[in-house]
Amino acid sequence: MSRDIIAIDGPAGSGKSTVARAVAQALGWSFLDTGAMYRALTSEALYQGIDVHDANAMALLARDARIDTLPRIRVNDRDVEDEIRSEPINLAVSVVAANPLVRASMVGRQREIADAQLTGTVVEGRDITTVVFPNATLKVYLTASLDERSRRRGEEGVASVARRDIADSTREASPLRQAPDALVIDTTGRDVHEVVGEIVECLKNIK
Ligand code: C5P
Repeated sequence: MSRDIIAIDGPAGSGKSTVARAVAQALGWSFLDTGAMYRALTSEALYQGIDVHDANAMALLARDARIDTLPRIRVNDRDVEDEIRSEPINLAVSVVAANPLVRASMVGRQREIADAQLTGTVVEGRDITTVVFPNATLKVYLTASLDERSRRRGEEGVASVARRDIADSTREASPLRQAPDALVIDTTGRDVHEVVGEIVECLKNIK
């Protein structure tokens, strides 16, 4: 029997990681940050001197790199948890994530990770409700104003967040889209606990 999945999508700074982590904690479920996987792969490409625009080299790296997500994100046994939020990664990650061969590898891994859990999993990213888990128990789309999202992303800055928004929602391979049956929550000015409560309540109502 397949496990319960809460799939959460939304643009950068919409609150996905914070909310997804808190929902997982409230339910005693596992949590998977798929953006961290694309970031880890980008970090490994920069580390090995691989050109992120070289689609075939990136596909091979995506196939072969070992990526562990818990307790800290590691790629080929190198702890990259702190480094993956840096500016060079912010700049290159959208290129890596637009590569369909890379996406195919990552999607397969994400399904395997969720499948291996003994509990349900809260998974967050850009294509989780539309591609990775289209039959998730509950699908959520988080959004917030660009101002608030940039404020949450701190040092990254409004220009970089806006650039990633455009790259992620206009790319050909699995662009960020709102699933038609997703629960849409605008988190602008809202407290995390309130948003978590709304998602947990919605899950109770459908189960
Ligand atoms: O969520 P986060 O900002 O860490 O994601 C980093 C980047 O990874 C996004 O800008 C996007 O290009 C990519 N991504 C993706 N699909 C996912 C998760 C993240 O394309 N499921």
